[in-house]
Amino acid sequence: MKLYNTVSKKKEEFIPLEEGKVKMYVCGPTVYNYIHIGNARPMIVFDTVRRYFEYKGYEVNFVSNFTDVDDKIINKAKEEGVEASAISTKFIEECKKDMEAMNIKPATKHPLATEEIPGMVDMIKTLVYKGYAYDKDGTVYYRTRKFKDYGKLSHKNIDDLRTGERELKVTGENEKEDPLDFVLWKPKKEGEPAWESPWSAGRPGWHIECSEMAKKYLGEEIDIHAGGEDLIFPHHENEIAQSEAVTGKTFAKYWLHNAFLNIDNRKMSKSLGNFRTVRQISEQFDLQVLRFFMLGAHYRSPLNFSADLMSSAKNGLERITNAADHLKFYISKAQNVTATQEEKKKLEEMIMFKASFEKAMDDDFNTADALAAIFDLVRFINSSTDENSTKEYLQGLFDFLKELTGVMGIIVEKEEEILAADIEKLIEERQNARKEKDFKRADEIRDELLAKGIVLEDTREGVKWKRA
Ligand code: AMP
Ligand code: ZN
Repeated sequence: MKLYNTVSKKKEEFIPLEEGKVKMYVCGPTVYNYIHIGNARPMIVFDTVRRYFEYKGYEVNFVSNFTDVDDKIINKAKEEGVEASAISTKFIEECKKDMEAMNIKPATKHPLATEEIPGMVDMIKTLVYKGYAYDKDGTVYYRTRKFKDYGKLSHKNIDDLRTGERELKVTGENEKEDPLDFVLWKPKKEGEPAWESPWSAGRPGWHIECSEMAKKYLGEEIDIHAGGEDLIFPHHENEIAQSEAVTGKTFAKYWLHNAFLNIDNRKMSKSLGNFRTVRQISEQFDLQVLRFFMLGAHYRSPLNFSADLMSSAKNGLERITNAADHLKFYISKAQNVTATQEEKKKLEEMIMFKASFEKAMDDDFNTADALAAIFDLVRFINSSTDENSTKEYLQGLFDFLKELTGVMGIIVEKEEEILAADIEKLIEERQNARKEKDFKRADEIRDELLAKGIVLEDTREGVKWKRA
């Protein structure tokens, strides 16, 4: 399995730090508004990366933060006359709803910056102690030049940066030793949220948040650190400088960055007014379509969003879900007999699709080619099944389709099936209630199901149900 590492600018073989395990950190959004579809790109892409590792049998510890203290949050809170925490709490909840609708798995841990401040203060203390940081009137700066590897991720030469930064110096911050130095801790201004520290009551800089949260939840050395390409510099470069100065170890082995999502061939931005939230898109499309659309391109290629492209993504997705629906229909009608010799041979042929799917994903997560393999499978399904196919054969195809689409996070079992599982569970609960002579509960369950249009029939072979 190969992945493109921003550090080496090459595709490298993935070798985990610990066998069978992947430790992965993805920078999450700053929560002051509904997430936009640009923010959704890293979420969808790296959720798919995670799912592929899991498919390959790895145990993935996936950490993704919410930045819940930031100027943008504070400004919005001031505008609305509420506490900053009211803004961040609301938009974390809304973000989680959008994630669920895009079928993004919850992270193993979603740390909140505001809950991790003591750890950040400890890291800054270590940096000061080691001479990598200094305090100027309550503001703590990182001494960038002291970190010899500075620029190794963004491939920037520190002296070139210095020339560029010198012009910026006129804008202030002249108490820094060097224009390249960046903030680790800043004192509070009137009305801002603040925490105690040895330097001032204040709050951490953005970069130290991720260094601390990655270390706390994944350890000093992690396999993969990921985010959008705008984060390479300065955010990730600064994370490396902080973390590696503290631990003396390589912070992350592989750095993965997704390219940007544009709208109508222009960069998506609030100022251009071409900005779309995931929530707005959900009014027009099932968010499965958005997910499918995003995976139609390689994550390192810029991707253009337009209504036309979303419509064709919708059609593509429907080809897959229709094939799944056909299979389910035939399965419900088929006789429960084992596959014929010919069908068995066909099931063996499916190894081809699996091979091309894995070949694509092993090549730096080429989801576009992986989807092409799924489409090949769909064609195979459509041309090799009908009402005479055996149940074993149909089920074999369905399970295989479900496995591959599952890696992409595409759902092929609609609510009805999920509901069927829930119905069975409730029926079982009702049977248990009856055994324990809890007839009240048993009747409650019957009524609950009836309200959902499900009629129960007690027969000699057991309980049967049908839709009213
Ligand atoms: P932010 O809330 O701005 O820190 O962004 C959260 C994540 O979304 C980061 O990984 C960004 O790189 C990513 N991101 C923001 N805008 C876009 C975009 N237009 N396309 C792709 N990724 C983006
Ligand atoms: Zn980060």
